[in-house]
Amino acid sequence: MRKIHLLPDEVAQKIAAGEVIERPVSVVKELVENSLDAGATEVRIELVDGGKSLIKVQDDGAGMDREDAALCFRRHSTSKIAGEEDLERIATLGFRGEALASIAAVSRLTLRTFDGAGDRGTMIEREGERLVAVTDIAFPRGTMIEARDLFFNLPARRKFLRSGQSELGPVAKYVTQAALGAPGVRFTLVHGGRETIGCPPVATLRERVFQLFGKKMVDGLMEVAAEDGEGRIEGLASLPLAGRADKSVQHFFVNGRPVKDRVLMAALSQAYTGILERGRSPEAFLFLRLPFADVDVNVHPAKSEVRFKDTQMVFRLVLRAVGEGAARGHTIKEVVPGGGHPTAPSGVAESGAAYEARSLDLGFGLPDVAGTSPTGAAGGDMPLEARDRPGGPSPRYVSPSSTASPAPSGQGPVVLGQYGNMYIVAAGEEGLLVIDQHNAHERVLYEKYREIDRMKLWPRKVLLIPPVLDLPPGAAAMLEENAALFEDLGFRVEAMGGRSYALKEYPDVYRQEEAGDIFLGLLEEAGRKPAEERRGHMLATMACKSAIKAGEPLTREKMGYLVDELFKTSQPALCPHGRPIVVRVERSTIDKGLGRK
Ligand code: ADP
Ligand code: MG
Repeated sequence: MRKIHLLPDEVAQKIAAGEVIERPVSVVKELVENSLDAGATEVRIELVDGGKSLIKVQDDGAGMDREDAALCFRRHSTSKIAGEEDLERIATLGFRGEALASIAAVSRLTLRTFDGAGDRGTMIEREGERLVAVTDIAFPRGTMIEARDLFFNLPARRKFLRSGQSELGPVAKYVTQAALGAPGVRFTLVHGGRETIGCPPVATLRERVFQLFGKKMVDGLMEVAAEDGEGRIEGLASLPLAGRADKSVQHFFVNGRPVKDRVLMAALSQAYTGILERGRSPEAFLFLRLPFADVDVNVHPAKSEVRFKDTQMVFRLVLRAVGEGAARGHTIKEVVPGGGHPTAPSGVAESGAAYEARSLDLGFGLPDVAGTSPTGAAGGDMPLEARDRPGGPSPRYVSPSSTASPAPSGQGPVVLGQYGNMYIVAAGEEGLLVIDQHNAHERVLYEKYREIDRMKLWPRKVLLIPPVLDLPPGAAAMLEENAALFEDLGFRVEAMGGRSYALKEYPDVYRQEEAGDIFLGLLEEAGRKPAEERRGHMLATMACKSAIKAGEPLTREKMGYLVDELFKTSQPALCPHGRPIVVRVERSTIDKGLGRK
């Protein structure tokens, strides 16, 4: 007996609609995209009961003539692409010709539209698959679509809709995103008669962010931009030390299309390692421009995901844009009377200026290590190198004789002394700096190591009698997976059978006794980090392990050198793990406390 039959059109439409239209926000998204594609300068969205009873979107775009208005509800009807070759260069938000068909299939829909030609517009009323009426109407140029009673003919779907208020949340979020993508367009979102979002047109992204998020957010953002071949990125992102506790404000656009993308998110979080304090995430509004052929937007029915041809290039763009931005805007945590720290970004903007000029000329990861540096390669005579630990006694407390200390360049902070064998106290232009010696050295080494890594120049020590390491269960697989990475980082191990491995070579910045433990620690860490962030984290750990420790007495020379190097890094305020390095006691605070002002 035959079992297969073709589904009735109506059922097929409903099934297809379900892919594109999941809840009110999906309708809003498709309609707003159409308005933007039609060149609107004004988009007004109105909802009743979170869109469950009514979603209305009106624009002042190009509108449609009578014929197009009748056609637009057909599945795969679109004015945006004509043939297969157009799929390679999609410049509009829509192109699948499915949205109106889908929305019409699952709601009671009224379309009003006028393209400005002739004197009458068109009104079309539909109910699910049924055409109810086509009428001549007087209507201004543009389009208005009302979708009522979403899923009225799909009770199972309707049951899944949440309360009006909870459906509104995602809609507001989407409209926010659309508004970020088009600052020149007026956006209004009205819910139950109340205006929830209202953004008059503005000239810049910064102004749009201000309208949507307020001044505090804008003050914590820096401009970022970078280019790589035909790729380009620009936008706004958190200043160093700013950011927030969650990832809720990260907006990415690829060729004008808002996207959720794992690659971009990972690149952003990597770019901010060591720029934000631990546990904080950046805010970002990033606009990526790529040749149309280098990005596939046709991978998801709602078009919210994309696929990049060259993910490495995308990664580089984000890293470079943020890195260069951060190098311009680095900043130091300030100590305020009363013990609290001003929360970033309030203390951020003005404090970045002091050392700006010096960090700029070094830039982000410019080669000054591994042979080319006057201070020598990492494995050679780096004055603060781990094996080169100072033996003799050093000043333990702050000495007031600032003149005695070496200040090689004459511009940076001047070292006054060491405090508690942990902190370097220095006089900066605007006040006293207390610098955590371990964190500072970690930052300096991290940047050097990154450079060494980039140039694949790890100095190695070859062990004649290699220690045998017993890997914990599971670690062997991890080692296998990361063999190339460890090799890059200067470690070479050889399988001895079972879980035993011989450590043949290690990067020559460690003492022989510690190399094995460091290797095991890195291996363990590799298992905890996602692949794309591994290298950065491991370099940070390698820096941490070879940095001078808290509790170690330091000579003047070493302190002078360290402070000097620190302020040449891209981010002297935070160690690569996101712990603060420097606090500053403002001159004015001291003056005030001592009754001088
Ligand atoms: P797509 O956007 O993928 O082309 P849609 O189903 O969303 O498919 O829309 C079908 C067509 O209807 C569009 O290509 C466009 O020509 C027309 N259209 C839809 N909405 C509008 C609008 N707001 N203004 C002008 N034309 C519109
Ligand atoms: Mg569309």
